[in-house]
Amino acid sequence: MIETNGFQDRDRAFRMLQVLPVLNDRFQDSESFRDRIGRRYALLPMRLISLDSSRYVLTNLAGEYIVLPKQAVRQLVHHELDMTSPAYSELKSRHFVLDGDSSVALDLLAVKYRTKQALLANLTSLFMYVVTLRCDHSCPYCQVSRQSMDRHAYDMKPDVAERAIDLMFRSPSKSIKVEFQGGEPLLNFALIQRIVERVKVRNDSERRDVQFVIATNLAPLTDDMLAYCREHEILISTSLDGPKELHNQNRPRPGGDSHELAEKGIRRVREALGPDRIAALMTTTAASLSRPTEIIDEYVRQGFSCIFLRPLSPYGFAVKTGLVTQYTMEQWLEFYRTALAHIIELNLRGVPFREEYSSLILRKMLTPYATGYVDLQSPAGIGIAGLVFNYDGEIYASDEARMLAETGDRRFRLGSVADDSFEDVMLSDALVDVLSETMTESVPMCADCGFQPYCGSDPVYHYATQGDVVGFKPSSDFCRKNMAVMRHLVHLLEDDERAASVLKSWL
Ligand code: SF4
Repeated sequence: MIETNGFQDRDRAFRMLQVLPVLNDRFQDSESFRDRIGRRYALLPMRLISLDSSRYVLTNLAGEYIVLPKQAVRQLVHHELDMTSPAYSELKSRHFVLDGDSSVALDLLAVKYRTKQALLANLTSLFMYVVTLRCDHSCPYCQVSRQSMDRHAYDMKPDVAERAIDLMFRSPSKSIKVEFQGGEPLLNFALIQRIVERVKVRNDSERRDVQFVIATNLAPLTDDMLAYCREHEILISTSLDGPKELHNQNRPRPGGDSHELAEKGIRRVREALGPDRIAALMTTTAASLSRPTEIIDEYVRQGFSCIFLRPLSPYGFAVKTGLVTQYTMEQWLEFYRTALAHIIELNLRGVPFREEYSSLILRKMLTPYATGYVDLQSPAGIGIAGLVFNYDGEIYASDEARMLAETGDRRFRLGSVADDSFEDVMLSDALVDVLSETMTESVPMCADCGFQPYCGSDPVYHYATQGDVVGFKPSSDFCRKNMAVMRHLVHLLEDDERAASVLKSWL
């Protein structure tokens, strides 16, 4: 648009157009424009990041990536890349450049971008019910303010659960996952039963795709509970930190037999519900760092086909006890790389086994689909992917947000089931402001980062660790972790054929 402000009249502006031939170029056909400046291809939106001293990773809007030598990147951005070269063909086929032959390229790119963002339309499908804060374990890395076994005041009341169910069914999502959390949720199993039955009755008319999960340490598991889970097709998620001694050290309980109870519980769940009805999560403590291969081997020994490697989260008891400061992110990354190498070797020896965090990122890198994993989304997954109903009826944007609240900071409280509707919660300033402020497409460093299509914003983490929802990425362990994991995966995909074949098989 030609700016006319500051000119005395439009005629003068028009005369200016006549004396500035270069401005007239915009009214000529595109072919003559190309000829004049010698650019035969246009660059489509892309980001880049160095892979090592000689190569860059380039990513496009749809999350496709390509690795190029630095010299080729220089030629590309100066419009000097040989259009007959294999690199050019690859860039063109993956929507990094556009030329006269690319008639449907932009439409195709738009379709791919929409596919990657499709989950946004499936607003809020995960609902966590904290049915009690009581717990029989006293894990020093616990992220919530667990309470002792006799403190029933920390159980969710039935009327709170009823209102939470009403609010949950206001979500437009076709699929709904109800996850029971604690404390140890099996200690309030009567309420779990009540919620399951109310949700099922309600769903007779709602007709959503409903799934139930109990996140439990398995210690209080009884045969009656198992029979109930079988009848109502409830999935189980548990914790397994590694071999007996390590697990029991990480997860103390009276009797010191957490591992024995977990192992026995895993076996009983498989017998009662089926082999694929239970999954396990591990947490890395300082004691885990020297034992990555033993931890993986323990998972294999106990019949699991995957593990989710994760560092300590900076919330709750993990902060109070100082556990989060006992190792650095660099040490965790070394642990991750060793564990991943061992998993790849197992696969090459014929033992099928996956690392789930890597799988999530690989899915973003190598398939047209999104993952729905809350921590790696932009806009952030808080609220729009899942909500937490705390035992007292308070609603939080994520499990980490309620953990923060349990230590006195209610920054991410979105409302309460007593006073607020689903619409109030989803349109609250506490949620919408944070989502819009933290989108990685626009925040410093992420906006230019080649790994942006695979990463996320995690405002609760950055608020907890840096006091700011956007976060200063050069000193963020979230950024450090993701950048290193993504770089490592691209290295394996590009430079190690055997590893690449294993990683691709996980998709
Ligand atoms: S957090 Fe770090 S790795 Fe992730 S997009 Fe931002 S700058 Fe890149």
